[in-house]
Amino acid sequence: MKNKALKRLIYRLCVLLVFLSVHPFNSFCSIPGSRPVANRDTVVPATGFKIKTIIIDPGHGGKPSSNVGHYSHGASGSYSSERNVTLAIAFKLQAAIEKELGGVKAVMTRTTEDDVSFERRAQIANENKGQLFISIHCNSLSDRVIRERVGTKHKKPVYRSVRVPDRSGKGVLMLVYGLHRTREEEKAIQNNQVGEETELDGGALDPDDPTTIILTNEYKRKFRLQSIKLATLINSEFTDTDGRKSEGIREQGIYVLCHSAMPSVLVETGYINNPDDEKYLNSEEGQNEIVASIVRALSIYKKDMEQVSQ
Ligand SMILES: [Zn+2]
Repeated sequence: MKNKALKRLIYRLCVLLVFLSVHPFNSFCSIPGSRPVANRDTVVPATGFKIKTIIIDPGHGGKPSSNVGHYSHGASGSYSSERNVTLAIAFKLQAAIEKELGGVKAVMTRTTEDDVSFERRAQIANENKGQLFISIHCNSLSDRVIRERVGTKHKKPVYRSVRVPDRSGKGVLMLVYGLHRTREEEKAIQNNQVGEETELDGGALDPDDPTTIILTNEYKRKFRLQSIKLATLINSEFTDTDGRKSEGIREQGIYVLCHSAMPSVLVETGYINNPDDEKYLNSEEGQNEIVASIVRALSIYKKDMEQVSQ
């Protein structure tokens, strides 16, 4: 490395380290009244940060099929399918967000029963400059395989494997992105949030610049914390207000979450192959309750995020 380049790198790293020691990146989430300061070497929400666009992603689409990989195909119940239920909830959520959260636009990644690829969903989110991504899904359990005795042969019992539906899953589950990040995701982050929401360098970022890489990593941490914060709020509304059972919040490597350069939560609204949950998910009352809970959580989240950056 040339001396000049090395000096420049050391200088920028020193500036960054000094900043990080004074303003840890998660501080605006946890310290009331903290006021992040924006300058050339910081990555913080701009002053007067407002949530203006929320992306609603109704899971799946296309032909329903049961008992197959959940994230490639939609789940099915005894009389309904995930593609229809999630679309109905998403439309209600879109209307409720625009009515309840003044000035917020809610953009859908799917408005028909046709499937939309994960790549396209993330693209829609980023093109619309979404600041939050909420994916709506229904859960289901795969069939259980049991051994059934079918007779005897040479005085020995004969068994066969039989698939039986497992309807024991019940309640909600929140998923946030975890595990490894890809180069593509880093690019999405650089192209969207870092460039748009902050004035890091006043211009385009060099993805190979070590400072940029450090800042990008910090941003990823910020999305993760914000995603967990929102997931926690939604989960609490489901359990405390609606009395729903919950499997909690889990981190999982999900394409559509990691490729959207914004805090993202995947909401499993219930088990469609559980008779009680299927009835709830298909009822007006159930759908309205789910939507109201998500909107209350969004309202708290929005207020918190906008307050800390004033
Ligand atoms: Zn799903």
